[in-house]
Amino acid sequence: MRFFIVPFMTAISVQAHQLSRLFFTHREYVSNDFTSGSPAHPGLLYFTVAVFFLAAVLIYKGRRQSPLSVETLARAQVVEDMKDAFIVCDSQFRFLDANQSARFLFPELNALTPGEAIKDDERFRTRGEMQVMAGGRRRTYEVTHTHIRQKGGEGGICIILHDITEREKLLKQLYIQAAFDPLMNIYNRGAFFRLSAMMVEKEKGCSYALLMIDVDYFKTVNDTYGHQCGDAVLKVLGRILKENFSGDNMVGRYGGEEMIAILKGVSPSQALAAAERLCKNIESAPVFYRNCIIRTTVSIGVGHSPAGQDHMLQDMLFEADQALYLAKNKGRNRACLYQTEEVTP
Ligand code: GH3
Ligand code: MG
Ligand code: MG
Repeated sequence: MRFFIVPFMTAISVQAHQLSRLFFTHREYVSNDFTSGSPAHPGLLYFTVAVFFLAAVLIYKGRRQSPLSVETLARAQVVEDMKDAFIVCDSQFRFLDANQSARFLFPELNALTPGEAIKDDERFRTRGEMQVMAGGRRRTYEVTHTHIRQKGGEGGICIILHDITEREKLLKQLYIQAAFDPLMNIYNRGAFFRLSAMMVEKEKGCSYALLMIDVDYFKTVNDTYGHQCGDAVLKVLGRILKENFSGDNMVGRYGGEEMIAILKGVSPSQALAAAERLCKNIESAPVFYRNCIIRTTVSIGVGHSPAGQDHMLQDMLFEADQALYLAKNKGRNRACLYQTEEVTP
């Protein structure tokens, strides 16, 4: 386009020659005292052509440049004003440029001149999540890198930090709502079985025990003190369960007043001992509700899966359930281990 427009405009400006000829060859048209009577002057002709040519070039350049500069300005303005922190480094992670969000987040950038090394540049080298203190509050940023390649040059890297604090908070809330029982504050049934299936699948070389825990005579608690009181008791039981089975172990609500726990790396006798400890801890933890003191007990059934075999959660659950019935039948407030009945020949 440029190669067409410049010669084209030059050609038009050359037409000015005809006009100047008119001025100097036909004196009868000229009334100006200065020009009348003077001969045609080629210097003036060249000057006129040059002026027209220059005007043509300037107009062309002006037309070409104005939209470009708006575009460049717009880009610079958008980058400068955006909420994301934007940092440009060379390939050695030396500072080149930063927008105002980046300078707010990392005030040390204000002291740098282009080409200077960034102190503690490790944090910018890794993509993914980054925790940054901003305005006295810890916020989470997602860091992305865009590599700028230059022909024959070293290129550089655009680092963008996008604030994902609110998104992370929402995701966490969603996860809690989806995975936890709101009353007992332990895993719900779905999450418990999903996570424990992953756990036993990942570490087959470990032994596991599954505990079914049922509150004794819980209907009586509801009938005597009301359902709100029953809820308060379940809430306390959830806390005691978590305190007893932390670390690699996991607890969940199976349904109603029944809870479930999976213990990792325990022998059958260790699992039984842990269940008996839980019985004691619950028995000795009265629940205070309004002016009432409520004492509850639980019965526990224990199933076990030894190390070095495929752990079947459903089999462990069956064993724990059977053992729970045994514990209830034996008088409650106790733990029983599942025992296969001895087959006599
Ligand atoms: P057992 O010793 O044989 O287990 O007797 P139980 O009374 O505990 O057993 P039952 O199955 O008869 O009663 C369980 C009760 O648990 C009935 C039900 O209303 C109550 N329950 C289940 N979920 C909740 C809950 O979320 N809140 C309250 N308050 N009660 C619940
Ligand atoms: Mg029950
Ligand atoms: Mg019960």
